[in-house]
Amino acid sequence: MSSDLSGLEAARAFAQGAHRLFIDGQWRPALSGKTFATHNPGDGALLGHAASAEAADVDLAVAAARAALDGPWSEIKPSERARLLWRLSDLIEKHADEIAALETLDNGKPLRDARLFDVPHAIETLRYNSGWATKLGGETINLSGPGTWHAYTVREPVGVVAQIVPWNAPFAMAVAKVAPALAAGCAVILKPAEETPLTALRLATLIEEVGFPKGVFSLLTGFGETAGAALVEHPGVDKVTFTGSTEVGRIIIRAAAGNFKRVTLELGGKTPVIVLPDADAARAAEGAARSIFTNAGQICNAGSRLFVHQSLFERVVEGVADYAGKLRVGPGLDPETQMGPVISDAQKQRVSGYIRAGVEQGATLRAQGAAAAGPGFFVPPTILTQTTPEMSVVREEIFGPVLCAMSFGDEDLDQIARTANASDYGLGAVVWTNNLSAAHRLARKLKAGTVRVNGGGLDPALPFGGFKQSGWGRENGREGIEAYTEVKAVAMAV
Ligand code: ADP
Repeated sequence: MSSDLSGLEAARAFAQGAHRLFIDGQWRPALSGKTFATHNPGDGALLGHAASAEAADVDLAVAAARAALDGPWSEIKPSERARLLWRLSDLIEKHADEIAALETLDNGKPLRDARLFDVPHAIETLRYNSGWATKLGGETINLSGPGTWHAYTVREPVGVVAQIVPWNAPFAMAVAKVAPALAAGCAVILKPAEETPLTALRLATLIEEVGFPKGVFSLLTGFGETAGAALVEHPGVDKVTFTGSTEVGRIIIRAAAGNFKRVTLELGGKTPVIVLPDADAARAAEGAARSIFTNAGQICNAGSRLFVHQSLFERVVEGVADYAGKLRVGPGLDPETQMGPVISDAQKQRVSGYIRAGVEQGATLRAQGAAAAGPGFFVPPTILTQTTPEMSVVREEIFGPVLCAMSFGDEDLDQIARTANASDYGLGAVVWTNNLSAAHRLARKLKAGTVRVNGGGLDPALPFGGFKQSGWGRENGREGIEAYTEVKAVAMAV
């Protein structure tokens, strides 16, 4: 990767613009005239202002989405939807450096991560879902009832979809939601997190440039309690997809009940990383370190609980500690930076509070890397040992670079799985082993939406979502796009 800062000037210029809402194909201020500021978590600098949408703006966006669905959007053939999405992916590719720099400014993540993961992932997600637009279909069904029937199913777009995304991977997450919804023929209203509105705003400018019919995509920047809540309650919204905290997920389930909105939720996690005695200890240590320290641990399926067989425990924990010790923590724009700040001072205090509580409850602070000095919101990569299942650091999602490392003895796989499954969450699980049989047996026993063996990352083709309190439904893959459809059965007497 080049360490140059190309795209940064364009990103800064974009950030400073007077940002408005994108509704019905037009840029307009919030009806209330309210705005809010967004800052760089790496140095606290003011980046720009976004419009603060409220219920009245939501009404306009929903009306525009409905009109698009009832009008031109439903006339557009799947192959044309595919072309529009592919064109959007090309535009993102063309502006990739600028978008990556904008993401780093607003979210704080290392520029190298934004360039190597967030933006390419968004491009691939669009291209993957573009392919699905022409392949979504139903089945013919053989009926057994009296009479002779011709019966089949069709898949129709679910309708107006509100998409609420968090701040940890704002661009990749927004695109991961928008791409399948548009491919399926839905109309979308996107609400980015109030901490990170900028790349969603840039995405809206590119969607405008591609030329989707007006109203098919609207962007409402604003706060969760106002814009988000109004979207989730709105009777004209047919589906809500949300990625964020489990608490807010619970609020959304209740708010969506009024008109029985379809709801997809990607919530918290407490992913276990299990290292069996035959694993390659060095690879497992590096994998475990990446899993918890990437994005400063602000990833819903960060590997935050490490379970290592006692024969490898010291080597693996030492390996993770070594990684943490060498990790360069600093502002995302510094080309040397490997781990950026957390998103806000509140998040920094929250993560630091968990580390303190863990130590007060009896955990050992085994290793802690260096955190850059302020004014950014830096938290050192931290490894706790001697943790026990009742401690808050083991039970709760910290959403920071904090690993709880535990060892196990010669328990059988059932017991190892029981320990790993002892969590309210069930998003991901990781196994390090070279024993094929143990890998597959554990994969069956683990209660998680994704089980990874010896590495692996996110892929637009691989369904992603959680068991238990980690959510409802799946994103990505066939399941991801089908979640934006309603199935209709048609039966005709012949
Ligand atoms: P985090 O705790 O990681 O900040 P949240 O779950 O609070 O995550 O926020 C994720 C997204 O949910 C953001 O876009 C936020 O504005 C939105 N949000 C927060 N509260 C609500 C709510 N009551 N209704 C709808 N959206 C909300």
